[in-house]
Amino acid sequence: MRPSLLNPLFAPAASLPGVGPKTGKLLDRLFGAPDGARILDVLFHLPTATIDRRNRPKIADAPIGSVVTLEVTVVDHRAPGPRSKGPYRVLVEDDTGDVQLVFFLANHQWIEKSLPIGAKRWISGKLELWDGHRQMVHPDRVLDAEGFARMDPVEPVYALTEGLFPKVLVKAAGGALARLPDLPEWHDQGVLGFKSLPSFAQALNAAHRPETPEATSPDDPARQRLALDELFANQLALALTRAQMTRSKGSPSRGDGRISERIAAALPFSLTASQQQALVEIRADLASPNRMLRLLQGDVGSGKTLVALLAMASVVEAGRQAALMAPTEILARQHFSALNAFARGSGLTLALLTGREKGAARAKVVDGLKDGSLNIAVGTHALFQESVAFADLGLAIVDEQHRFGVHQRLALGDKGQTSGGQPADILVMTATPIPRTLVLTYFGDMDVSTLREKPAGRRPIETRALPVERIGELVERLRPAIAAGARAFWVCPLVEESETLDVAAAQERYIHLRDIFGDKVGLVHGKMKGAEKDSAMAAFAAGTTQILVATTVIEVGVDVPQASIMVIEHSERFGLAQLHQLRGRVGRGEAKSSCVLLYKGPLGETAKARIAIMRETEDGFRIAEEDLRLRGEGEVLGARQSGLPGFKLAELPAHAALLALARREALKVVEDNSKLSGPRGEALRLLLNIFERAEAIRLLGAG
Ligand code: ADP
Ligand code: MG
Repeated sequence: MRPSLLNPLFAPAASLPGVGPKTGKLLDRLFGAPDGARILDVLFHLPTATIDRRNRPKIADAPIGSVVTLEVTVVDHRAPGPRSKGPYRVLVEDDTGDVQLVFFLANHQWIEKSLPIGAKRWISGKLELWDGHRQMVHPDRVLDAEGFARMDPVEPVYALTEGLFPKVLVKAAGGALARLPDLPEWHDQGVLGFKSLPSFAQALNAAHRPETPEATSPDDPARQRLALDELFANQLALALTRAQMTRSKGSPSRGDGRISERIAAALPFSLTASQQQALVEIRADLASPNRMLRLLQGDVGSGKTLVALLAMASVVEAGRQAALMAPTEILARQHFSALNAFARGSGLTLALLTGREKGAARAKVVDGLKDGSLNIAVGTHALFQESVAFADLGLAIVDEQHRFGVHQRLALGDKGQTSGGQPADILVMTATPIPRTLVLTYFGDMDVSTLREKPAGRRPIETRALPVERIGELVERLRPAIAAGARAFWVCPLVEESETLDVAAAQERYIHLRDIFGDKVGLVHGKMKGAEKDSAMAAFAAGTTQILVATTVIEVGVDVPQASIMVIEHSERFGLAQLHQLRGRVGRGEAKSSCVLLYKGPLGETAKARIAIMRETEDGFRIAEEDLRLRGEGEVLGARQSGLPGFKLAELPAHAALLALARREALKVVEDNSKLSGPRGEALRLLLNIFERAEAIRLLGAG
């Protein structure tokens, strides 16, 4: 429940002065708020620049090309002739020189009224030189003495959307500031004093009413204060969540190694040093009485699945159960069969649970999990369902791929409590190497294990770029390869984020390739029924089909080691991380692999850079860094899919020092006042609500 004190901030922006239904719609668009922009959105939409009208030189001294405010007397009007398309000119002067004001398509009445001959006026706008004369085209301001007295010397400039006028937003922001309730301070006085920062309300006022152009710099105290608030809310939510997770002294899972040793002995290869190291770290966490919250990051093909299985085996050795949750059904099935292959002969019992398991089959799995006869459940979010309970869940692994929110991760862990036990340890797997600052902001101070090296014996993938006009050549090169038994993925483009169009494009390509390669071609896309998808995948895995045309459903984790060719159509439409993930689907087996990036020219700069990087390296960390550089942090994390919030007020890396401060302060709160009680606690709850991190508060009740 949101404190009612904050209601004015969450009221619709359409209730602000000067904002009618039409402007309201524009604000919805501007803020990307289809459910309706709120006053809070207006407040958090800070100016990006300013217009400085403080320079008030004499005309002779006024610099050409910049904004000036001139005190002048109106000398003459030169209206265009009745049929002329020329501008209306007004001559103004001071005792040092004169300026022509130029108005195209002018409203004559307005000009005559606002600039009567002989009157004293204040004119503000950009001064230009034209044909040797000073002129000002459409001055921003034409004011009399009274108007001049009210003019803002420095004006905010906001990011706008088509149809929205600057004035409207300035007025809306003014109205929004007037609705700000009186809020208590949530920061420790020491922090504010040390940085001499203003209050939240002062900072918002200052940010929207800049007095100098420096006010929009990230170093400005008001900007710092607001960034600190946002980062503090973010870190506090994460710290509270983590505290609630680790506080519960869970029962430790201490495996004796009997199952994992059997699995390891049966492997046709040995673990990489990174895999071994990760397992040492994970097993130490599992054995400790504190709850584990660990991120396992490793590039595609670095062998996370096996680490996951061995971690789960440790938990089973300790007499408990484990669960692995995947973001899609295909991936869940893939994991299930990979895990089963590794676990054969080890004595582990695994079951699959997705939305597709129904009736008696489902009931059997649910019963097995409840009575403990099943050791490991693999599935999708179907594992969350209330009817699913575990006898003793010790470890929940979430194969993240950035598709789950923080909340869902916790929910699976809580399945441990359904049996009256402790919440389960949590291991999150991610294939996108994440820079440390981003781990901090999005996952809090999670522990991190990293699989840096790839299993030995991987052969480099040859990557080529080819304009789509030369698709005929590609087909000719494919012919002998397919005849020799090679298997190829053919990924079809992402069309304007419309799944229906994606599917149409894939179907078209499928028909085209079928004409050439006959029944060697298969098709899989997101709109297919589960069973259809399965059989298409199975046919490809078995080699019945050798070319699998697919939409990006195969992006996440499909494992067919025999596939050695990856064709990506319209590769210019994919992001770097996505291209890397897709390419990672090949190069896993014996055969030499290749990746063909088909593109439709002309390529933009970014697309060119992406393709160049893809050709240059297979190093996922390097690619992630380049991706960050090319796209910005939010997108690397797929913030939109996962529901992870981006920052509105804080700018990273400019505010990185504040992030560290916010984190320290958040940890202090968790140490001193983890229940958020007393007046400071009240204030902190307001902060979390304002920044929409109140989910963390609900966890307090549960803890
Ligand atoms: P990820 O999930 O990190 O993308 P996978 O777990 O799917 O990677 O592993 C990719 C492939 O590498 C699988 O076929 C797996 O059997 C194999 N693999 C895993 N660990 C090793 C290893 N230590 N040596 C050789 N191959 C390995
Ligand atoms: Mg995998």
